[in-house]
Amino acid sequence: MMGNQCSPEEIRENIKRIRSRLGEAFIKSGRSPQEVRVMAVTKTVPAELVNVAIQEGIDLLGENRVQEFQSKRESYDLRKAEVHFIGHLQTNKVKYLADTVTMIESVSSYKLAEEIDRIMGKKQKKMPVLLEVNIGNEESKSGFEPNNLVENLEKLSKLSNISIKGLMCIPPKGESEKFFYNIQKLFVDIKGKKLDNIDMSVLSMGMSADFEQAIQYGSNIVRLGTVLFGHRNYQN
Ligand SMILES: *Cc1c(COP(=O)(O)O)cnc(C)c1O
Repeated sequence: MMGNQCSPEEIRENIKRIRSRLGEAFIKSGRSPQEVRVMAVTKTVPAELVNVAIQEGIDLLGENRVQEFQSKRESYDLRKAEVHFIGHLQTNKVKYLADTVTMIESVSSYKLAEEIDRIMGKKQKKMPVLLEVNIGNEESKSGFEPNNLVENLEKLSKLSNISIKGLMCIPPKGESEKFFYNIQKLFVDIKGKKLDNIDMSVLSMGMSADFEQAIQYGSNIVRLGTVLFGHRNYQN
């Protein structure tokens, strides 16, 4: 099936519509626009179209695939935007991200955290990360299980070349509200523990279908693909 990726004009219209929906979500939740960043999720989207979003003021890109990112990166206009990695990450690909992204949101296991720590240590740099939580305990998804996360925190906090900034999740389809509630609770619990090197300031959740709800439950980054760029064409 062919996708129907949007034209530059349509992307500009989409951004206006998204901003108006965000405005309503801020009123409804009593939150302020400064608390929530909009990420443009770029998988399958040509760099020229991603640059349209950047021109319209979107200053955060989300990359899912290391190889695709490498092939598009040079064409992105990154003077006014930064990049977070949000996809499944194999340990042998971490090295490609060390100097090219400002956060890895999809740290899904202790083993991956350890490898990021090792690579960053060699560069004497620190990588901000989010811990991905498999909030619905789904077989098909990666991430820390909510029940095991707390016991992993102490080990994670000792990795001195990553700084843990918060949590990220993709809730089970159609059940966002319940799981947004659960992860917000987990986020607040962990924050209350005041562990060294674990600063729970970023909760990344909410996609095209549920971003307004995510804002109600404390999201700080909404990750938008389809509402911004149209349906993805995976044929390309
Ligand atoms: C694709 C993707 C999104 C965006 O999904 P849409 O429903 O198209 O907005 C957000 N987060 C992650 C991790 C993704 O892979």
